[in-house]
Amino acid sequence: MVKPFVPQLVYFEPKAMDYPLGKTLYKKFSNMDVEIRETTSHNQVRNLPGDNDFQKYRNAKSTLVVGLRKTLKFDTSKPSAEYAIPFATGCMGHCHYCYLQTTMGSKPYIRTYVNTEEIFDAAEEYMKERAPEITRFEASCTSDIVGIDHLTHTLKEAIEYFGRSDHGRLRFVTKFAHVDHLLDADHRGKTRFRFSINDDYVIKFFEPGTSRLHERIEAAAKVAHAGYPLGFIIAPIYLHEGWREGYISMLEKLAETLPAEAKKDLTFELIQHRFTKPAKKVIQKNYPMTKLELDESKRKTKWGRYGIWKYVYTDQEQEEMKQVFVETIKKLFPTASIEYFT
Ligand code: SF4
Repeated sequence: MVKPFVPQLVYFEPKAMDYPLGKTLYKKFSNMDVEIRETTSHNQVRNLPGDNDFQKYRNAKSTLVVGLRKTLKFDTSKPSAEYAIPFATGCMGHCHYCYLQTTMGSKPYIRTYVNTEEIFDAAEEYMKERAPEITRFEASCTSDIVGIDHLTHTLKEAIEYFGRSDHGRLRFVTKFAHVDHLLDADHRGKTRFRFSINDDYVIKFFEPGTSRLHERIEAAAKVAHAGYPLGFIIAPIYLHEGWREGYISMLEKLAETLPAEAKKDLTFELIQHRFTKPAKKVIQKNYPMTKLELDESKRKTKWGRYGIWKYVYTDQEQEEMKQVFVETIKKLFPTASIEYFT
């Protein structure tokens, strides 16, 4: 069982102490066996312990910077939401294929933002602009927000904030099962709680540091009992020996554990494994022993929206995957919606 995340080292930006959450976190970490340092800005977090890049990367992933979100212009977040709402960046997980390795580059430490009121005010403006249309905010574009929320409770605050809003909806996805503090949040059905799941093989070999499949499924059942709309992202769908059996058994376990009521309104998002050349390089640097198959010659190229070629599965493989997932999901969850396969 993966324990809830506790950082080894925490940096505080001085202005963070002007906010109630900054003070609360300072007190919390002072009472724990955690080293606390001050920094004028997260960019100064340079001298992380470690003799080489490999160790520094690992230490960074257990380092937390408590600071302020300065840019309050939100990125767009298609197709699942209109905007990405920034409460944190970085993640303590060690998924070999994680896209944060390329997007966060040399700064893989975790940051949490304490100026939540300012972030909510910015969200309010985005909602006003689109009203009476509903505006959806995605809270997990740059982090696994649930993985850190047992410490900050920012997500809980956001769930209740959007619960009170007329035109806002919140969604996020997680690979962590530490959800207990979110179960009594007054969500009013306006947050879709999604779990990222995979079969036992993929979780065992490529997702160290995250909750195991049965833990995620048990957490999803708790979330369903708490009345949240629920969803699953199956990503990355990865072809390995026995993948069919692995994924079918994953979906069967899910069907056995979820309460009947929750199965009526489930969403599934299906994302096949893909990589780019720069991502391959950084994966091989951070996880040199990985078994992840990254052979361009076995894949098909697809032009990505960031102006770079992606390597995806061949058309025939994609068709096989789609068939297995669509058939099994329709059989086990007849009223669920499959939002997309990509
Ligand atoms: Fe990346 Fe998600 Fe794994 Fe964290 S849990 S390392 S964000 S893929």
